[in-house]
Amino acid sequence: MNYKDLADLMFPEAKEISYYEEKYPERKLKEGAIVTRIAPSPTGFIHIGGLYQGLIAKKIADQTEGVFFVRIEDTDQKRKIENGVSEIVNSLTSFGFEPDEGMISENEEKGAYGPYKQSIRKEIYQAYAKYLVQQGKAYPCFCTPEEIEEIRTKQENAKIRPGYYGVWAKCRKLTVEEMIEKIKAGEQWIVRFKSPGREDRKIKHKDVIKGNVEFPENDQDIVIIKADGLPTYHFAHAVDDHLMRTTHVIRGDEWLSSVPLHLQLFQELGFKTPKYAHIAPIMKNDNGNKRKLSKRKDPEAAVSYYAEEGIPKEAVTEYLLNIANSTFENWRRANPDKPIEEFELQLNKMSVSGALFDMVKLLDVSKTVISKMTAEEVYNNTINWAEKYDEELANLLKKNKEYSLRVLGIERGNKKPRKDIGKWSDVKEINSYMYEELFEKDKTEYPYQVIKEKQAISKILNEYITKYYDENDDKQTWFDKIKELSSKMGYAKEVKEFKENPGKYLAHVGDVSTVLRVALTKRTNTPDMYEIMQILGKDVMQKRFEKAIEEMEK
Ligand code: GLU
Repeated sequence: MNYKDLADLMFPEAKEISYYEEKYPERKLKEGAIVTRIAPSPTGFIHIGGLYQGLIAKKIADQTEGVFFVRIEDTDQKRKIENGVSEIVNSLTSFGFEPDEGMISENEEKGAYGPYKQSIRKEIYQAYAKYLVQQGKAYPCFCTPEEIEEIRTKQENAKIRPGYYGVWAKCRKLTVEEMIEKIKAGEQWIVRFKSPGREDRKIKHKDVIKGNVEFPENDQDIVIIKADGLPTYHFAHAVDDHLMRTTHVIRGDEWLSSVPLHLQLFQELGFKTPKYAHIAPIMKNDNGNKRKLSKRKDPEAAVSYYAEEGIPKEAVTEYLLNIANSTFENWRRANPDKPIEEFELQLNKMSVSGALFDMVKLLDVSKTVISKMTAEEVYNNTINWAEKYDEELANLLKKNKEYSLRVLGIERGNKKPRKDIGKWSDVKEINSYMYEELFEKDKTEYPYQVIKEKQAISKILNEYITKYYDENDDKQTWFDKIKELSSKMGYAKEVKEFKENPGKYLAHVGDVSTVLRVALTKRTNTPDMYEIMQILGKDVMQKRFEKAIEEMEK
């Protein structure tokens, strides 16, 4: 009786590994091409950190004319949820991170290196497990959960390292005959890796992001095939990333400490090791404490949050690149109009300890992104968002399409476009004074500034609308008229004049403009008032001024 007999008994159906090695040959890519993947579990919650990894993996592959694929790690059948795969795939594609290969919907995939869903790769893992058993590098373990628990308790009591290793690895010491006998007797078994490592020896490893790291060797005889016949993450990672010919394993740094085990698995399986790039998690400043962005505490940890808030995906992507490489910001400043595809992401420039996520900064990036869109794009995007989240806004925009395009076009398409919209949910509030229906509902006070007296205000408004405002005036004439009105009423027509001689005037032209602005919009800050007046039209202006005067009489 030898290992081969044991392996045949354990996996009578399994194919020779040469079958798979030939079926999934080395990829024919140009030199330097990088093959990356993301390997999410379909658990229903798409974390922004997952999207971040997707972006990085895709970008690195694209930059080198490599391959980016999506593999679904669903070997933990208990955690699986319905439509979990579609949710992952849809969120990736909605951000434009289409995979070159892998899962493209719940049950469909593309590419020649599949299946890309682990639960249907069972026979492949079994073939490789059999291969290890044949060489005495893996063995069946018959320990019951109670026995494992007992080992743990003993280790805890003795305050020694937990796990299945050395003297604790009971089944490792069984003879092949004993193993065969137990299997034949119908005892339950799982498969463990026979680790060749020693805890008192160190391994050195160079991670693409973390740099040089040193760890004790792995000496744990970890489970590679579970009782349900499916592999553990570690074993599946080695087999899949080898057969799918991944060159760079880009993954969360919670896996960094598993590197010694993974290197051992690759070595014992006779595989070439991939490069590892361990990404630090996205962090958040929580009252001065830096902590991981948390699924439970932070709504912005969910990818769905951005669509709900109406933050455009382009902005999220751009912001994630900001987090990924601090050089992105300078690049963007130097190349304000280039597509992000032209930015060269560098893995070795990524933060080792975790970049901070800052919502204010994200919205700032978003404002710039939106400022570059056309009125039509803003209009369509806002409707798409509002149809789901703000019916009133959707209806308002649809009912007044041409008008809305003019409103959204204010200070847009020029050199210094307006930058006030950070998310589609801002559009209503920012432009509310441009719609009578919304303005009527605004119950806030008129925020008059320097000129506050009722009489002065009524006079400015009345004079302006009856004697000065003309819809046909160009901007210069329009402004000259406000100056003229100012000077007629005792206000300085230039701010400079006022500053030189403040005693001579009641206030200045800017203060007069503010009265007009506040009466029209109830705001002290708006984009270009000339455009606002042009779009509102004289009738609405008149109505607003009357209302403003009326309010003061109350
Ligand atoms: N399924 C693993 C996870 O979700 C994947 C880790 C990896 O990328 O290898 O954490």
